[in-house]
Amino acid sequence: MAGLLNIPKLVDFRNKVKRHPSLEFPVLSLKGKTTIAVHHSLTKQGLAGSNAEGYARYHVDTLGWPSIGYSYVIEPDGTIKFCNDIELRTYHVGDHNNYAVGICLTGDFRTEKPTKAQEESLRNLVFGLQKAYPHLKFVKGHNEFSGYEWKACPCFDYKAILANKTISKPIENKVSGVSTSKPSKPKSKSIDQLADEVIKGLHGSGAQRKNSLGSQYDAVQKRVNEKLLGSQPKPKPATKSIDQLVKETLAGKHGNGEARKKSLGKNYKAVQDIINGKSSAPKKTDSKPKTLKVGQKVKIKSSAKKYATGQTIPSQYKNKTYTIQQVKSDRVLIKELYSWVKKSDVQ
Ligand SMILES: [Zn+2]
Repeated sequence: MAGLLNIPKLVDFRNKVKRHPSLEFPVLSLKGKTTIAVHHSLTKQGLAGSNAEGYARYHVDTLGWPSIGYSYVIEPDGTIKFCNDIELRTYHVGDHNNYAVGICLTGDFRTEKPTKAQEESLRNLVFGLQKAYPHLKFVKGHNEFSGYEWKACPCFDYKAILANKTISKPIENKVSGVSTSKPSKPKSKSIDQLADEVIKGLHGSGAQRKNSLGSQYDAVQKRVNEKLLGSQPKPKPATKSIDQLVKETLAGKHGNGEARKKSLGKNYKAVQDIINGKSSAPKKTDSKPKTLKVGQKVKIKSSAKKYATGQTIPSQYKNKTYTIQQVKSDRVLIKELYSWVKKSDVQ
């Protein structure tokens, strides 16, 4: 498990970003990692959720990924959030994920610029990584990987930033001496405790509070709002598709007769109909689910309007050939776009 460096402003976030309850990124050989990939988040600095925690939630909840797609996120205050061990095959440059380690700078650099603190942390991180792992010889922007020339990423001149070879001195006792074999334990004060302190006024307000809480500001602030509104975060119940339930039933997981009826509940009839051959597909959607497979090449129809997640599909993405990375009952994950598209919208 590699990537926990002794450099200024690096914090271990591996236990703090959202992770999928069952999926995990594949573990690859560390030596196989040769290239650092630089991204921007395409989300404006300072917005709620425009941070590593927010990207992780989006990648898990919306895209169905094991966790955040990057190994490191550099926030506007220069904090480097270490989110994934670098030997993992996380998702950020499609076919190149096997050998690339992803660094994302928070910001929409089509209109914003990296802060000085981000520039300094990018230098510390890239040079720190290359010193610790000499096989990480190359640094590339997302759009310098073949197949991604059309991507507006990272939209800033990272080469100019890295041309300055100055690095900050490691801070003694910050992360030095930390074994890289295990994620470190969360800080002694929990988000909950900190939120209570904020409510009591112990961390001041505005910029003072931000300073006092540092990288935990967003998480604490969220908790404070939850506490003040009296609402607790509710885990979403996992819903299984009829397809999955049919498979499970055929595998004997739901028993027979009454036991099966009880186990499947309101889905019993739909599942049973498919098994009995009365129906060949779930009747949930009016469009017929197609047999689409991972790795298959598809086009997004020009008639397609929105991604399965609701955002508008830009017209330049339509009628182009893409690769399927994951398949669900009604949608497919398009590898090159990191987006879910309805099955009825591809051909
Ligand atoms: Zn990118």
